[in-house]
Amino acid sequence: MAGSAAGSPARSADCAACLALCCVGPSFAASADFAVDKPAHTPCRHLRADHACGIHDRLRPRGFPGCVVFDCFGAGQQVVQVTFGGSDRRVPAMFDALEVLRPLHEVLALLDEAARSGGAGAGAVGDDAVALVARVEETVRGDADALAVVDVAAVRREAGALFDEYVATVHAGRPGPDLRGADLLGADLRRRDLRAARLRGALLVGADLRGVDLDRAELLGADLRGADVRGARLDGALLLTAPQLAAARGDAATTVPDHLARPEHWTALPSAR
Ligand code: SF4
Repeated sequence: MAGSAAGSPARSADCAACLALCCVGPSFAASADFAVDKPAHTPCRHLRADHACGIHDRLRPRGFPGCVVFDCFGAGQQVVQVTFGGSDRRVPAMFDALEVLRPLHEVLALLDEAARSGGAGAGAVGDDAVALVARVEETVRGDADALAVVDVAAVRREAGALFDEYVATVHAGRPGPDLRGADLLGADLRRRDLRAARLRGALLVGADLRGVDLDRAELLGADLRGADVRGARLDGALLLTAPQLAAARGDAATTVPDHLARPEHWTALPSAR
């Protein structure tokens, strides 16, 4: 939220080019992620007049870790600068557009990875990903009326099928354990061989993954909140996103994919070794 940026330019938040839509549009109930109740379409009490967060450098200690891990994947500036032509005034229709564009931008960020694989022997899957990226990019350039009728679920389904192909291609007939959707909340996984594991949608909240090699492990949609990944090898993980990394607890020894930035708060954590 208001102040973050990582990853490729088109798929990462540029809060300076937005109107803090994510700090105004959603409603929040007070929780471990967001310290206060906030009604929808109402500015957060910490939002400044210049659309910046007044507590950006203290979000975790002030009880707003949910803001640290939130990422619009560049959808916010797309709404303001493209859908609404660079408007300097927030209007309610922007929030509707953001609800469509955020998931589409997340899909694009993931498709980028599969598209890049075209040059690494993934051939047809990479080509299909490039083609789907082009179609989704055309969709996100639509005006507010066009966005209102986009079937986001259908786009996700199509991308999901392509991700299956991508993962299967990378695993080359030698997949690891199939843990898709598994409940691994708080599990000690330090001795599990999770190389090439399928962890799509797995619940890994608070799991102990210290020092684990997750090379070619598929992490699409895995819930990594509070997962201890200190010293883990994540550089070869598949379909991992910046918000997932930010939600986990890593350290200087944790490796991350080249296309993702190392979360700033990791350096403050004690090392696993
Ligand atoms: S705490 Fe800061 S980042 Fe979070 S919603 Fe409020 S203004 Fe936005």
